[in-house]
Amino acid sequence: MRPPALLRAAVSGVRDLEAFALPQRCPGCGQPAEPERLLCGSCCEHVPVLSFALCARCLVRGREPVGCGRHPQAQVWPALVYDERAALLVHALKYGGRPGLADALAERLARALPAALAADLVTAVPLHPARRRERGYNQAWELAVGLAGRLGVPALEDVLVRVRHTPAQAQLDPERRRRNLAGAFQVREPQRYRERKVLIVDDVLTTGATLEACLGTLAGAGARTVGAVLAWAQ
Ligand SMILES: [Zn+2]
Ligand SMILES: [Zn+2]
Repeated sequence: MRPPALLRAAVSGVRDLEAFALPQRCPGCGQPAEPERLLCGSCCEHVPVLSFALCARCLVRGREPVGCGRHPQAQVWPALVYDERAALLVHALKYGGRPGLADALAERLARALPAALAADLVTAVPLHPARRRERGYNQAWELAVGLAGRLGVPALEDVLVRVRHTPAQAQLDPERRRRNLAGAFQVREPQRYRERKVLIVDDVLTTGATLEACLGTLAGAGARTVGAVLAWAQ
């Protein structure tokens, strides 16, 4: 049986008070930390920062992803190296229990982007609608909103839709993973994005297959595309 609304509100009020009253500990080292940053200042500083673009297309095909000039529509800017501390950040972001964390991480993402990027709008790699309902939260979209605010451009959630659920990606080799994702995304209103520069955000870049599929789908609709990810898992 569900507890009555008043009781639920009281319980959540107590939780808020606890979060306020108890000292926040950094999961990286146990030292006190600001809740909205998750990690303490020292752990934050130790996550290696990146400041160059990768090519998602070359990454997916197992070629050198740094310094490619041939696939400008597949350029992706990572902010951090996906080390143990970055993994703690991404995990906390994914499960959404930290108000303010997405915004603090969006600030780090904004710092990784070149000043001349000139995006017209920001969007995120979408979750499949069923997955989104189950989770209630798309961490990439939370980052996209914070980033768009900093860039002073709109964030639009439904630029891309995931029309096919693509389970069990992790077990596939990169080439099968790429084929598995072909046609998984569609542009909802393609005519709206022609010649517009669209920045697509994701949390972690691993094989690059998902982000490459999103960039390629949108570029196919005539948009100029660029990607940004919080962390690169090399
Ligand atoms: Zn720490
Ligand atoms: Zn390339």
